[in-house]
Amino acid sequence: MAKREVITYGHPVLRQVAKPVGKVDERIRAIIQDMMEALAEEEGIGLAAPQIGISERIVIIDLSKSGQQTKMALLNPEIIFSSKDSVPYEEGCLSIPEVWGTVYRPSFIKVKAKTTTGKSIVIEADEILARVLQHEIDHLNGKLFLDYLSEEDKAKNAEKISALLEENRKKLGHVAL
Ligand SMILES: [Zn+2]
Repeated sequence: MAKREVITYGHPVLRQVAKPVGKVDERIRAIIQDMMEALAEEEGIGLAAPQIGISERIVIIDLSKSGQQTKMALLNPEIIFSSKDSVPYEEGCLSIPEVWGTVYRPSFIKVKAKTTTGKSIVIEADEILARVLQHEIDHLNGKLFLDYLSEEDKAKNAEKISALLEENRKKLGHVAL
């Protein structure tokens, strides 16, 4: 079992703006390792550090579940360019299990980030990589894909969403919507 559980909707950490990462040290490498384990266990394609309860700007991507080789850990990722279009896609989130809905996002982006070796890079992304990067970077800003759903999609998922909130209310005594 992964050392850290994936935190679910209602937990306040998911609504916080995460702090930038400074030096890449042992602590940061250990967080990335924990994130990799959690992502593999949940069979997801991307994870942001707040999803394991760490409010720092770290994102990992592993597209092997969608048949691609792409695997990366990004520190302080920032979108520096977005195409003007807006493309629909059915999104889900490991922190909001069993909830799905259509989210419109630009189809092409450029992301500036630091690698784990401290190198600055710019990634040009389209298709699934553009999608997952935007979703994960949103997590670092306290934003969730739920925020973009139509009233119809929200209604369709209302029961599952309230069940998650109820679970966290019991566990934490309070929730953040
Ligand atoms: Zn997510």
